[in-house]
Amino acid sequence: MDYYSFSIGYSEVVILKKNILLIHTGGTISMSEDTSGSVKPGTNNPLTEGTDLLASLANLMVEEPFNLPSPHITTQEMMKLKNIIEEYTQHGNIDGAVITHGTDTLEETAYFLDLTVQANFPIVVTGAMRSSNEIGSDGLYNLISSIRVASSQEARGQGVLVVLNDEIHTAVNVTKTHTSNISTFQSPQYGPIGIVTKRGVLFHHTPTKHENYFVEDISKKVALIKAHAGMDSSLLKAILSLKVDGVVIEALGQGNLPPAALEGVKEFIQNNIPVVIVSRSFAGIVQDVYGYEGGGKHLKELGVIFSNGLNGQKARIKLLVALAKTDNMDEIKEMFMF
Ligand code: ASP
Repeated sequence: MDYYSFSIGYSEVVILKKNILLIHTGGTISMSEDTSGSVKPGTNNPLTEGTDLLASLANLMVEEPFNLPSPHITTQEMMKLKNIIEEYTQHGNIDGAVITHGTDTLEETAYFLDLTVQANFPIVVTGAMRSSNEIGSDGLYNLISSIRVASSQEARGQGVLVVLNDEIHTAVNVTKTHTSNISTFQSPQYGPIGIVTKRGVLFHHTPTKHENYFVEDISKKVALIKAHAGMDSSLLKAILSLKVDGVVIEALGQGNLPPAALEGVKEFIQNNIPVVIVSRSFAGIVQDVYGYEGGGKHLKELGVIFSNGLNGQKARIKLLVALAKTDNMDEIKEMFMF
């Protein structure tokens, strides 16, 4: 059957089924709770058992390249996902892709794919906060919503999307905000760009820009640290000695650091290693506002790179992608101005 239908009032709405690539990668959505209350993966992915129900929504091509809790995901797995999606673009008849993923690092994978995948169909990443056999399990529900979003014409050209709990978020803005609540995925400051209802998929905002880079390999090392009151340079110096290719600092407020941390920052810059500044604040962007020692203006003069509203974990992904393309500091700065 290449269509499905439902009724609204006196009318019967017929929807043509789309060809959707469905990639399972693991996470709570693919796990079950045992009698001791421990949540873990089993030998079979419970989502595969639900495929019959999903088959009424779309023609599914199912891939399961690995089954990992998302704290086990590295850029290698992200790259594998990118390659699978791009391979399917060659088939020419794919209308959309849905990826199921653990929620802990979901935003990093989604943003990586957003920055790097060369595909002209919608890509949706989803997960669950409750495993498959828990009461109120949200996995199958989120997966169905995601297939509906990936099948919708309006999802095209919006970049990689994250769909959970009836909301559609952009990969660039979404973040996991709560350890256990099912409404954990939020886009601070910007909000979702659409909603999923029983009758349809509704976009109410459109992203104004989207960046995408051609990368073949991610091999650089980028550290991520958080600033705090009384921070000094010791951690930065230790990181430098590990021969990293870049560092992201979650700085204070609008992008400021304690004066004692500056020596470490300067050593990075003298070694031509990029230092990207984001804020440890939940929302807002960093700017060169404060002129005191360690203030944003001072940091900018020293040569640090200000990110444009990304959180720390996503700025790290972006720096990895940037370093895969260039080691020219001006070009990297330019990429972070986007
Ligand atoms: N720890 C789990 C994971 O990220 C959490 C989840 O999937 O919600 O794999």
